[in-house]
Formats: sequence, C-alpha cells, structure tokens
Amino acid sequence: MQRRTIDQLLDVGDGRAFPPDLERGLREAIEQGIEGVLDGSTQPLVLSKEPPFEHSAASATGTLAHRAIEVDVAAGHAVEPDRVVELASERLGRDRRFALYWDGLDQVERAELAMQALRSLEQFRASFPPVHAFRRALAPVSELWLESPFANGLVTVRGRVDLVLNPARTGRATRVLIDLKGGRARSEHPEDMRLYALLYTLRTGVPPVRVATFFLSSGEWMLEDVSDSTLEHAADRVVAAAGSASRRARGDPPRLVPGPHCARCPVRDRCPAAV
Ligand code: SF4
Repeated sequence: MQRRTIDQLLDVGDGRAFPPDLERGLREAIEQGIEGVLDGSTQPLVLSKEPPFEHSAASATGTLAHRAIEVDVAAGHAVEPDRVVELASERLGRDRRFALYWDGLDQVERAELAMQALRSLEQFRASFPPVHAFRRALAPVSELWLESPFANGLVTVRGRVDLVLNPARTGRATRVLIDLKGGRARSEHPEDMRLYALLYTLRTGVPPVRVATFFLSSGEWMLEDVSDSTLEHAADRVVAAAGSASRRARGDPPRLVPGPHCARCPVRDRCPAAV
C-alpha cells in the first residue's frame, strides 16, 4: 500500500514548469473581480471552507485523528501509536472548542474517541511511507495554514492543508497537497483542493504539481494534476464567493444549498432547507 502511494500519488518525476508570472496574474484577476463584486462595500469579509461550529462526536474524532497524524509527521522517530494519540489530545486541550467538547465526555467516551483516532493513525501509517525514516525524500509539512488578503485586506481567504509532500525544486512545481478524510468522497472535495492549490500558489509563488483527497478508511484517493486553468477556475470561485458573502453582508437573503455539509451546520435546527 505504501509503495502504491509512492508510485501513483507522490512520484511526479521532474514536476512541471509554470509561467513565472502565474502568481501575479492570478492575484490581479482576483483583485479585479473582487473590486467588481464588492460594489463599494467596506465590510471586511473572511472566506474560509470551515464554518464556525460546535463539535459533534464525528467532528471531534476527525480533529483528534488529524492532530494525531500531525504529531506523527512531526516526530523525528517512531513513536508508539497510543502515545501519539495521547500527545494529540494533550495538544488539543489548548483548543477552546475541542476542550469544551472533550471536558464534557466521561472516561469511556474519551477512550472511544481516542480509539477511533488510533484507527485513523494506523490507516495513515499503513498508507504512507514512514515519514520519520524518509523525511528528506518526503519533505513533509502538516497542517499548513494558508491565507491571502485582497482588496486592501477587505477580503481574506483562508484554508488549511493537511499534508504537503515532496521536496520543492527551484522553477518547477513538485509539491503534492493532500487532504486526509475519514469519511467518504463528496462533490465539494475537488473544489476544496483547487482552492488550496490556489492559496498555496499565491502564498509561495509556486503551484503544487498535484492535489489529492485521501480517504483513510479505503486507502483510495481523488487526484488532480494542477494546471494553470485549475488555478484560474479556483480564482473565479473566490471572486464568486466574495460577491455572495458581500451580498449577504448587505442584507440579501442567503441562497440555501442543502447537502451533507448540513450535518455540521450551526443553524441546522432552524434552517428550512436542512437535510
Ligand atoms: S442548507 Fe441550511 S442547514 Fe444546510 S448548510 Fe445551508 S444553512 Fe446550514
């Protein structure tokens, strides 16, 4: 399984060349687009994939599992999985939202949550080469926050990539961005990854060569090689999202789009479209 991940997901050869002014062109296109949709509004907007929410069992499990994988990737040597999950729960004690949920659990419920995170960690270890042993070859970065301001800071776009792998090479796109998922494939996953590719390009000036959503339970993934048109598409979506958020901020009613994301929505109880 680890060999398959290397051969089919991480082996990108020499990567790909990209136009030197790619980042500047994308930024200018977004700035121009946003100027048109803000319509003079001066209300600051933050666009992020993650809405504010209170933890449920599913989201807390996912958070603990991701933190455990982050600890595992950061460790310079092999650490027992139990200890990794323990360290992850200690680190998350400083996260207000997670601590609120965790403190409300009894000992058995905490052990169940930890066991599910342990399973995800084992699935990760079964799928990816041991990061501590191949640190130089994989050049891993986990939980990478990316942020880009536009319109003099009026619009901020944020995202967080679970895992960035492959060494960077001057003048070539070689990095692979990976989102780790405990659940099943959803239609929004590819768009999320395109947004991360755009934010990464804007932040570093270099596009990733590939993005992928990796499903821990099956070891399968959804992969997309990042082209210039992938990034232009993501830039168009940022402009559309800024326009939509701006109209909402000015009092327009929201266009409700129900779907699996409703499960984590904080207004689900009073939303007429919730599923
Ligand atoms: S449709 Fe309603 S419940 Fe579903 S995500 Fe949108 S606002 Fe939330």
